[in-house]
Formats: sequence, C-alpha cells, structure tokens
Amino acid sequence: MDTTAPLPSVRTTCPYCGVGCGVLARADGSGGAKIEGDPDHPANFGKLCSKGSALGETLSLDGRLLHPMVRDGHGVLTRTSWDTALGKVADGFRETIAKYGPNSVAFYVSGQLLTEDYYVANKLMKGFLGSANIDTNSRLCMASSVAGHKRAFGSDTVPGCYDDLDQADLLVLTGSNSAWCHPVLHQRMLRNKQRRAAKIVVIDPRQTSTSDDADLILQIKPGTDSILFSGLLVHLAAANCIDRGYVSMFTDGYAEALARACHIAPDADAVADRCGVPVERVQTFFDWFSQTNRAVTLYSQGVNQSAQGTDKVCAIINCHLATGRIGKPGAGPFSLTGQPNAMGGREVGGLANQLAAHMGFDPPSRDRVQRFWNAPALAETEGLKAVELFDAIESGRIKALWIVATNPAVSLPRANAVRDLLAKLDLLVVSDVLARTDTTLAGVHVLLPAEAWGEKDGTVTNSERRISRQRAFLDPPGEAKPDWWMMAQVGQRLGFKEAFQFTSAASIFDEHARLSAFENAGTRDFDIGGLAGLEPAAFDVLQPVQWPLTSDAPHGTDRMFANGKYFTSDLRAKFIPVAQPRLADATSQTYPLILNTGRVRDHWHTMTRTGKSARLSAHIEEPYIEICSQDAQHFGLIDQGFARVSSVHGSATVRVRISAAVKPGEVFAPIHWSAETSSDGRIGGLVQPATDPVSGQPEMKATPVSVAPVEFARQGFLLMRGSQPPPATAWWSRVQVADGTGYRLALKSTPNALPELLCVSDEGAELVEFSDEAHGIYRAVHIRNNQLEACVFLARDPAALPNWEWLKLQLRATALDPEQRRTLLSGRAAEGGAESGPIVCACFGVGAADIQNAVKSGTCDTVDSIGTALKAGTNCGSCRPEIRKLIAACAVKIVLEPAQ
Ligand code: SF4
Repeated sequence: MDTTAPLPSVRTTCPYCGVGCGVLARADGSGGAKIEGDPDHPANFGKLCSKGSALGETLSLDGRLLHPMVRDGHGVLTRTSWDTALGKVADGFRETIAKYGPNSVAFYVSGQLLTEDYYVANKLMKGFLGSANIDTNSRLCMASSVAGHKRAFGSDTVPGCYDDLDQADLLVLTGSNSAWCHPVLHQRMLRNKQRRAAKIVVIDPRQTSTSDDADLILQIKPGTDSILFSGLLVHLAAANCIDRGYVSMFTDGYAEALARACHIAPDADAVADRCGVPVERVQTFFDWFSQTNRAVTLYSQGVNQSAQGTDKVCAIINCHLATGRIGKPGAGPFSLTGQPNAMGGREVGGLANQLAAHMGFDPPSRDRVQRFWNAPALAETEGLKAVELFDAIESGRIKALWIVATNPAVSLPRANAVRDLLAKLDLLVVSDVLARTDTTLAGVHVLLPAEAWGEKDGTVTNSERRISRQRAFLDPPGEAKPDWWMMAQVGQRLGFKEAFQFTSAASIFDEHARLSAFENAGTRDFDIGGLAGLEPAAFDVLQPVQWPLTSDAPHGTDRMFANGKYFTSDLRAKFIPVAQPRLADATSQTYPLILNTGRVRDHWHTMTRTGKSARLSAHIEEPYIEICSQDAQHFGLIDQGFARVSSVHGSATVRVRISAAVKPGEVFAPIHWSAETSSDGRIGGLVQPATDPVSGQPEMKATPVSVAPVEFARQGFLLMRGSQPPPATAWWSRVQVADGTGYRLALKSTPNALPELLCVSDEGAELVEFSDEAHGIYRAVHIRNNQLEACVFLARDPAALPNWEWLKLQLRATALDPEQRRTLLSGRAAEGGAESGPIVCACFGVGAADIQNAVKSGTCDTVDSIGTALKAGTNCGSCRPEIRKLIAACAVKIVLEPAQ
C-alpha cells in the first residue's frame, strides 16, 4: 500500500447553518483536512461561506473531551470507563423514574445532532422512558415556523426549494440577515438579482449587511411583522389581487383572516404608523408584492424568535395562500432554518410536542408508533418545551437531565439563572465534544465524549427538505463515540436490548425510513419509505435527495402542495386570523431600550467551533452592542467605549459601537460570547424568557434593557504563544490567533506589576518594556530564544494602540531579525512594511488596510475590482457589503483631503 498517496476526498455536509452546503474534505493524515465546496451538491454547487471554508481550522484536539468522566465522592470529575459512565447514567435515570415518575427526567438535545442521533434519543425518551420531555435547541431557532406550518398546512412542511430563489422575481427577506447567516443562499439570491433583475425587499428593525443589497428596506419597529403582513393581505384584497379560484378550491378561513387583518392594519397609513416606516415604502412593498406572481418570502429568527412568532409566520403564509403563490416555481413562504439539522430533528420528533416522523400525540399516531416500536411506555402527552423544561428544574419537577451537543448555560434566555439551576439536578449528564463549556462547568455528574463533525456518520436535512450524508473523514480521538451509540447503550442497560441494538447509522436510518412510511399511504407529508431497506453500502453512497421520497416516487420532490392538497383533515390549507401583536415585555423608565440579539458573520452559536479558527476570530473580536448616536449621547456612551447593558435578568459589559443601523430606542448585541470566551459578555444572561403561546419559542429579540457607560483606566491587548488563562483582574475577550492566544483587555486600574499581565514566566526570557505614564501607555514584550513569546500593549486612549495584526504575524516568526526586534515595541511594521489591518475578508485573509490602500492607489474603485486585485469578496461574498463601505469611506476621504 502506498502510504504517501493523498487520502481521497470525502463528500460530507457543512455542520453550521441550514443551507446544508456540500463539502469535500480531504484528511491530511495528521488530524487536519483540506476543505472545499462540493461542486456537485445542489445546495451550494461548490460555494462555501467563510465559516464553511474555515472548517479545516476547527478540527484540532485542543480542548477536546477524550474520555468519559464522572464526579467522584469528593466532587471531582475523574476519568472512568465507558461501562462505568453509562451504568451511572442508566442507574440514575432508572432510579429517578422509580422515585419520581417518568416526567421527572428529560433530554435537551441539539440541531447539531445527526438525524440518527436524534432518532435514538427520541425513541428512548418517548417510547421507553415514558415521557416526552425531550426538547432541542431548535426550539430557540424555528419552533414558530413548525407551529405556523402545522396550523396552516396541517403538517410541518417547507413548501419550496432553493430553485425557487433562482426563479423568483421578488425576494422578500423578513427577520433574516441572510448575508451573514445563510451566506451561500444570499449570494444565490444576488445572482438572481444580477441576472434576472429580481427585486429584494428587506424587512428588519435593524439595517444589516443584507439590507445593503436591498431594493427596498422596511426598518420596522420590533415585533410589528404581522402588522405589515396583515396590511399586505388587506391591500391584496382591496387591489383585487386575491386568487379567488385558489382560495375557494384549496383553502378555508380567508374571510375571518381578512377581517382580523382589517382590524389590525386597515390601510397602508395605519401600517406605516404602527410599523414606524414611511408610508411610501409600505405602499411600494404592497405594490411590488401584489404585482409579482413569482414572489418568495424568506424568514428566519427575526420572525421566529418572538412571543408572537407563530402568528408572524401565519401572517406571511396567509398572503401566499391568498394569492395562490405556493407550490409553484419561484413562489412561496420559505423558512430558513438556522441549524444544520433542525429539519432532521423535526423529522424524527426531536421537539417535545412531536412524536416521530411528523406524527403527533393524537390516539391513532400514538397507537401507530407504539406498535412500530413495540414500545412499553409510549409517552401519553406532549413534553416540556425548552424554556418550560428548565423552569421545571427550578421548581424541582425535573430531577435528571441529559444535555447533548448544546450549551444551554449560554444560549437559553436568562442564561445566568439556567447555569445556576443546573446545579440543582440530582443527575446532570452532558455529552459534548469539548471538556470546558459553560454547561459542562455547571455541576455536571457524568461527562461523555462525543464524536465531532469530521468523525460523525449519518444524515442531515437542510432548509429545502434535502437529506444529505454527513460522512466521517477522521478517526475519533481518545474514546469519543457517536451520540446515537451512547443513547442506545443506555437504552440497552435499561433493559431494552432489542429495541436499541443498532449497529450503525445505516441501521438507524433504515428504521427511521420505515417508520415514516408505516401506515402512511400519502396521509403524512414526511415519507422517505423509498429509502427504507438500504444496504450499508447503498446508504454510504446516498446522494442528496429531497423528501418526500416514496417507493412510488423514488427521486424525491422539490416542491410541495403543487396540487393544492394539504395535510389537514379536509386536505384544505387554513388561513389563520392573527392576534394584535405586542411585545411580551414593555420598556420602562428603568429599562428604556429594546435589546435585539443576533449573530455575527464569522461565528456560530457559542463559538465552541468557530472560536478555534484564527481567521474567523479576526473579524469581530469582542462582544459589543450597536446603539444609535442619539441614544449613545443620551446615555453617555462613546464609540469604542464600554457599556454595562442590564435587564431584569442579568447584565454584561461590552464594547460600544455607535451605528446608524439601529433605530433610537433599540440596541443590538450578538449572542456568541460565553464565560469561556469573555469575562463579562454573556448576552443570553439578559434575555427574557417570555415565549410564544403556540410554539414555545422565546422572544429573544426584544428584551427591555438599560445601558450605562463603564470607564476603564487602560485598554489594550495581550498576545502569547500557546494558551494561558486571562488576567484575573481585567475585562477580557479571548481571540484565537494562529499558534497562540489573544486577549482584548480593559483594566479598571493600572496594576502595580504590569509585566505580570504577560501571564508567562519571565525566567530565561528577555523583557523589553516601554512606559509613558503621562499618556498612560505601557508596552512590554517577552522574547525567548529569539522568538516573540508574549506581548502586552495598554493605553489610556485606545487610539494610541497599534492594530495587532502585525504582532500576530511576529508571534509566528521562528526567529526575529534585528529590524523586527527593534520595531516590536511600536507594534507596527518598520517603514515600508505591509500592514493588513483588521480582517474584512475571512476567506482570503484580506484586511481593511489592504483594501484602503488599493482604493487610495487608484487601482480599485469597485467591489469587483477589489476582488480582481486582492481576491477579497470573491468566495462566499459575505464581506462584499463591508468592502463597499470601505470604498465609499475612502472615496469621501479622497474628495475631502485636498480641501483640508
Ligand atoms: Fe456552511 Fe456557510 Fe453553507 Fe451555511 S452557508 S452551510 S455555514 S458553508
């Protein structure tokens, strides 16, 4: 065998967002892999965004949990065998159920799981432990879409497909920053705009990178989406744009829904007033929608994460049903799922209010699933949804919890309280890839090492109902195991040997496929019976395919409802009258601002994976809030200063970004930072727990907060080779850098012994310092073996700090030349040396200074010309809005400079 031959590429799927891009991963034989987009995958045709492109940088074993651990009698987590750990889990669940009943136990799982993991977890809880207390972090992501679909269609069906985005003439994006959160699909929509002149409307309380590409922006007040879409329904009726044939043949409830809409939003003026946007814009939107048959309305967390999320979804669907724009090319409502396998979780019943294979808890479905599983204790009723589930720990109803592949101590509303109450459990089991997360550090009793993305094997389903294989291309390290294996082992130890004797992902998928087709005969939307009975070899080569996929239609289905038949009892779609919208919690004198939460371009969830990539970490390095200049002035905040943001549930200290992107009365903060990545940036700790009454999804985008300035004596950064904990007395944000660690710092007072901030032993190291007390500047570098080992730069005025990109490069240098040594304390390249500045294009590592220099040199004046010169913006394209802004800013400066 030729051991020097390169390993073959493995076709797999990106583990981040619901676009579900195909990936080619070629292992390098030493734990890493080369990552490329799969040109044959129909979700992305070879494209990847910055996060997908950087997957190869997230594979290191740093921080990995490699062995099962249990808490011993002294309260210390110690390594143990799988047999002991699984025995402890099984005994704990058995004893808890015996003492307190089946509803005293729960699983909290994740849209990161593969469908097979999800299937086994759901089967164990709902069929054999006798409770439906299994819910998922997808509850925080798209539960309102599920509920809206079920109310309108009788089933949780996404009607459309990605081809519709190519064929639409109008793309309405509401509550969706697709440029950052679904970048490959966003670029696909932009290609439609360029080639076919499709119009893009963006509806969002905040201006985002997505709005930069819009033909029309409606910057609505938080929570008013259903007013806008109710107004649209009224307008469609008034303008005689209702497809009366479709409405009468295929739907029910139009008159009631219209009457309610008239009450909520009688005309464009009322809509403009209540939504807080100019009436001309509202009218333009109404006109465009009413005049465009090929219209797709895309929505994600901005709609779903709301105390009226289900109504918002229904208000959108009402407009599509009224115009018959559903199930047709280029038309339909389209929920963009956040997570890679939220859809797969829905298919197996990963939500507490679903049973399995899109069945509910009605008696016929319960009977069917009980017979199929031969389940001894099928759950009788729905279980606790995520927020309720954690409330039930607080009230003592839940005694034993297994958290799988998620970090609720960061991500749930009022996350500080959630983190604390985990310690109340009699048994807390966590299976994870990482040893240290805010959740694994919250009093866990059993810690189980799970396989990571590159090691896992199974399937995922993306936003267009496309099932793709996720294939392993790395060996699992240590004793890491698949999540489904752990669940099956516990099931066997609880006495259910036959039901849980799965030997592979293929065997689980086969049972899942058979259940989907069991007594189905077209009565349920989710049917993949055409994939039942696949041999392992056939499962291994399974091509991406869209469900439903039956033995009669073995090639899958791109569009649903093309025949106007729905999955309600009378096969007719239902218009839903929506309620008067209002935010769950109003602002007050104490908490006068609305906090909107969301994501940044290059990070994913709680950064447990993207936080390992130096490239991704370079884009946005600190937790922050965006606030408009008017509010900033009112509350005494300055741009690039710090603010204490507080709600009734918690507070955080974050950087201030003054921005015209948010309206007065609102602030925005990203959700990603945890206690592992920041000293005080846990935004989930502030978020209120109010939920939608139908979907149970929390209102994570509208929490009343206050802001106040925070003064620091010094700001700066610390860079070091390897990894060290942050200085205990500083505000900090951890930033992954190549071959080292960075901390952005802020200090309340200047420490007596500044060199101690370097966090490394000075024995045998050369310490070079510079201090200018008058200007509050302190700089120090450690040089060891003629290499930069660590450096700290502090200043009273942050403008006196150098950009640290050049220093990051010096940290990687194997030997410093005299010129480098001489300039180290300046933090800048010697004259003539190149500095890239803060990273803008993560795909090609292009910095702001590179782009500005190209513009100033006169060689580039458009985003495309920057792409030609520097490659920036030519891969995933999600940095193109930032490049455009930099060019515009340079152009202003160039015009102004001669007059200065
Ligand atoms: Fe992954 Fe980006 Fe594709 Fe989403 S758009 S699946 S994050 S590569």
